[in-house]
Amino acid sequence: MASVSKPIPSVTPEMAEFYEGTRRGQLMVRKCEGCGDLHFPAHSFCSLCMSTRAKWVPVSGRGEIYSYNIMHQVYHPGFASEVPYAVVVVKLEEGPKFVSNVVGIKPHEIRIGMPVEVTFEKMSDEVMLPKFRPRAT
Ligand SMILES: [Zn+2]
Repeated sequence: MASVSKPIPSVTPEMAEFYEGTRRGQLMVRKCEGCGDLHFPAHSFCSLCMSTRAKWVPVSGRGEIYSYNIMHQVYHPGFASEVPYAVVVVKLEEGPKFVSNVVGIKPHEIRIGMPVEVTFEKMSDEVMLPKFRPRAT
């Protein structure tokens, strides 16, 4: 049976530095140079102070499960073998939230507030996708 590849995010110019970071095993978020707010993904301007100046800064990669949804439908054939899977929102220790997946546990084992840390899944030579796995507290 032919397997269908998962969709790989395209590396847009504003995300190029982010993916350079993930290839080094480093998770980064945007830091507003106007007010210091940390956010992800990149915005064209800061929602707090309207500054258009921001830079990528490294973060710890540690956080906790903020919310999650278990997907039972196959929305893309590349995920057919993984249903059901969970889409989680991870709140990083530094504040920004990431929409991602948790690896290493079953969807029904996910709990709100569960401590997690980043890990990277190689999608292509260019793209390492941040995922999260449970961590000991
Ligand atoms: Zn700002």
